[in-house]
Amino acid sequence: MKKKIFLLYGGKSAEHEVSIRTAFAVTQALNFEKYEVTPIYITEAGQWVKREALENPVKQIGELRLDRQKSTTTSPALFIGDSIEKMDEPGIIFPLLHGPNGEDGTVQGMLEVLNLPYVGNGVLASAAGMDKVIMKNLFRDAGLNQVDYVSVLRHEWENDAVASYEKVEKALDYPCFVKPANLGSSVGISKCKNREELVRAFQEAFQFDRKIIIEQGVEAREIEIGVLGNDQPICSVAGEIVPKTEFYDYRAKYEDGDTALVIPADVSEEIYETIKEMAITAFKALDCSGLVRADFFVAKEGKVLINEINTMPGFTPVSMFPLLWKHSGLDYPELIDRLIELGFERYEEKQ
Ligand code: ADP
Ligand code: MG
Ligand code: MG
Repeated sequence: MKKKIFLLYGGKSAEHEVSIRTAFAVTQALNFEKYEVTPIYITEAGQWVKREALENPVKQIGELRLDRQKSTTTSPALFIGDSIEKMDEPGIIFPLLHGPNGEDGTVQGMLEVLNLPYVGNGVLASAAGMDKVIMKNLFRDAGLNQVDYVSVLRHEWENDAVASYEKVEKALDYPCFVKPANLGSSVGISKCKNREELVRAFQEAFQFDRKIIIEQGVEAREIEIGVLGNDQPICSVAGEIVPKTEFYDYRAKYEDGDTALVIPADVSEEIYETIKEMAITAFKALDCSGLVRADFFVAKEGKVLINEINTMPGFTPVSMFPLLWKHSGLDYPELIDRLIELGFERYEEKQ
């Protein structure tokens, strides 16, 4: 009998469009002999819509721009409960959602309450991984090397903007990076070389979040690694990102085909071993399950710093995470199979 998969995509998030592209790619790759797929589209306003099939993302994104304002909300819990109740065979939810309201533990929490199996990280790991400040605090507690950082709340900044710029300048040197605490895909991130740029960066980042993180800028290679598993996670080969832009921004990630992904990354065995070890430590520090892409900075002298982990990394067939696994012997459809297996495994363990 075919396994039912409910693919959640879109989402109330600045990374909405990325998710649409990914979901389309996943449905193209799923083995229809094995799986019966129900796409569930979440509009930018948070409305849940059951789709018969996934449409070409270019068309869907076009339509989305037209009806962005029109959406109303329905209760996702009722919606999904209703779909699941009709299931005769255990199904699994695949939350292919990036950013807040999807990758951050909220949807995962709803699925836990409904007692449904789902793919990927649980509530805690998703929530902690989405908040860069909390994530970095946990990395620090786990003894991982990383850049220095400070955090500022919107209300602090509104009360006394100059004091918050001074707080940054006291702790860090230029260039620094300003980021919304809870986001991904480089949305709202700026690199600042002086106070003037810092001011602009704060304004930009606070549009996306009430909390921001400011980090010491480093000049380093960007090396990423895939982690897969539950209690006994394993690592893929490492890959390097070579952006042609000033940093790996949104355009470089999704619009500009120029960014080179070098897999496997040309790093020494020693650095590769360090990265693997740090990736597993990070995975455990946030109590992850299923999958994670762990991202590192490798400075000229070979010093390795962890940048972040992503609990639902970019997942199209040409994204880093699937490519890392492909080079490690697991092709795209096999990777999806494995993630579904891991989701069921974790669910059964908890019953
Ligand atoms: P996201 O979760 O949106 O991917 P990141 O923290 O990974 O956010 O930042 C996006 C990109 O910005 C990184 O891939 C890197 O190119 C650049 N970047 C971020 N932080 C730093 C830093 N502290 N030093 C140098 N480059 C950085
Ligand atoms: Mg990220
Ligand atoms: Mg990143």
